Amino acid sequence: MAQTPDIHAPAAPLASQFLERLARIVGETDVRTDPADCWPYGYDNSRRQALPQAVAFASAHEEVRDLVRLCNEFLVPLVARGLGSSTTGSSVPVTGGLVLALERMNRILHVDSANRALSCETGATNAAVQAAAGTAGFFWAPDPTSAAYSTVGGNLACGDPLTDPGASLIALDAEVVLTSSQGQRKLRLDEFFIDYYQTALEPGELLTEIHVPPATRHAWAHIKFTPRSVEDFATVGVAVTLRAKDGTCDDVRLALNSVASTIVRAKQAEEVLCGKPLTDPAIREMGEIAATEVDPTDDNRGSADYKRDLVKVLVPRAVQEAMQRIV
Ligand SMILES: Cc1cc2nc3c(=O)[nH]c(=O)nc-3n(C[C@H](O)[C@H](O)[C@H](O)COP(=O)(O)OP(=O)(O)OC[C@H]3O[C@@H](n4cnc5c(N)ncnc54)[C@H](O)[C@@H]3O)c2cc1C
Repeated sequence: MAQTPDIHAPAAPLASQFLERLARIVGETDVRTDPADCWPYGYDNSRRQALPQAVAFASAHEEVRDLVRLCNEFLVPLVARGLGSSTTGSSVPVTGGLVLALERMNRILHVDSANRALSCETGATNAAVQAAAGTAGFFWAPDPTSAAYSTVGGNLACGDPLTDPGASLIALDAEVVLTSSQGQRKLRLDEFFIDYYQTALEPGELLTEIHVPPATRHAWAHIKFTPRSVEDFATVGVAVTLRAKDGTCDDVRLALNSVASTIVRAKQAEEVLCGKPLTDPAIREMGEIAATEVDPTDDNRGSADYKRDLVKVLVPRAVQEAMQRIV
């Protein structure tokens, strides 16, 4: 069935004083106000469309901070944008205002292949960060399908529990940097996802950096189970990182996506395996406990019971896969 676009009416023009200050913050060449230039920033992969009154390209934290301050002062709505690949319409400026495009905050800041650490700005595409980690020879979140045209920040900030990178990044102990008019704060990624499409981002706060610290658990596995097509969102996603000594697990991190209203870190399941020999019964028990920590819903990818059963099967499978990588 053909779908009609959901187009929102343009808002009143922005004050010239606002536009002058905007140009002073990011530089004149990094501001767009011509509708022909602004329209490409007025839609995403949903049917929703709305013309931004201005688009600004930030390339530093300080610019992000000052743009938020400016919008607060002039009461101009601000919408952050990665690359607009979300299917929800959430990067579309339906009340007009400024679209703050983060696509130029795309630097890979630090790659430490010996310690498997990586930091990047959030406007980097998932594909660029995967390539940087791959070149250095270590694991990074292997999805999404949209990796070439989605940013790492947009993927996390949308707070969609179906998305893939969050689980792997939790398993890698990632931290995020949040920037607002007040400056910056850091947060562990396992504290970032609050509820369905809800994150720890406060109003006027943007994700500007992601840090994966030096790895303390070198064995890893990621399973994205998609019975329908590889492009689909996961029916269940499992990410695990593991450290073992003499056949005994001495540290493990387990995170899952598509199984609850948020991406889940399964702490009880981690505790069950930690300190135990990596035997089949212990690994199976971890899967059983993980299944009690998720709360899936029935949808077109399967029933809640089916997904819970998948957790029982896929968690042990991921741990066994990780065990193959223990050095
Ligand atoms: C064909 C297709 C296939 C896909 N497959 C997958 C898949 O396999 N796995 C998967 O996980 N996802 C998949 N997606 C979903 C989509 O790619 C993600 O939602 C995406 O990562 C969003 O990134 P973006 O940079 O495009 O963000 P945008 O769409 O630009 O923004 C998404 C949301 O985040 C906000 N935002 C963006 N950047 C920031 C920031 N730095 N700080 C604060 N807020 C911000 C925006 O305001 C908006 O609310 C797919 C999408 C498409 C179109």
